[in-house]
Amino acid sequence: MRALDGFLDLIYPPRCLVCESWEEPLLCSECVAQFVPVPAPICVVCGHPSEPERVCRLCEAAADRWGGWAFEQARAAGQHTGALRHALHLLKYRQKDALAEPLGAWLADKCLTELFPGSSFDAIVALPLSIKKRKRRGYNQAVLLAQPLAEQLQVAMLPETAFVRTRAEQSQMRLGAQQRLSNLSPDDFSVVDSDAIRGQNLLLLDDVLTTGATLHCASAALRKAGAAQVSVVTLSRAF
Ligand SMILES: [Zn+2]
Ligand SMILES: [Zn+2]
Repeated sequence: MRALDGFLDLIYPPRCLVCESWEEPLLCSECVAQFVPVPAPICVVCGHPSEPERVCRLCEAAADRWGGWAFEQARAAGQHTGALRHALHLLKYRQKDALAEPLGAWLADKCLTELFPGSSFDAIVALPLSIKKRKRRGYNQAVLLAQPLAEQLQVAMLPETAFVRTRAEQSQMRLGAQQRLSNLSPDDFSVVDSDAIRGQNLLLLDDVLTTGATLHCASAALRKAGAAQVSVVTLSRAF
């Protein structure tokens, strides 16, 4: 495929993979301008749109189920809708892995200016996929998104082999919110190299946050293995 892509680039200049216009390669500025921000105000802990001064619905559910989130805070760069949702769909299900670079760069910019201004992290961790899913897709989109983020934030990236998913993903989309919460466990994840995360302030990245259950369980596994603190960032937020 790559050889063919290279050949086609000679004939056709690369175009935006999301809207297919010829204006700019990969991801055009018009598509980026259409990304919808998460509506303010948001919950200071989990980032869910929420009434100010109140514990949000998701934080309440997390307190009931787990005694609270295992992450310090979660933030998303945009809403899981329109052009951003389409871009993530292409990245995950249509083999458009080239989109990870401009999307990751956009996320990095958001982290520096809006989501975590002034914060510093010791390492960036991509949410792992199960071996089966990683094999079928050929790549983990979170790892590809984490690379430009690590570069721009000038933070090390935890190697993909240091933190793994030991139990296969259920089809979360088909489950209701309650089922999702009870279907996941921190034991679904395993830290292979605890020395790499012990005492570290980590930024855990995934493409989309829905209930937060998966990212909670992954954070809990990282904390259990000795991470000092875990913050979560996703490209989009579905609600
Ligand atoms: Zn476009
Ligand atoms: Zn919340």
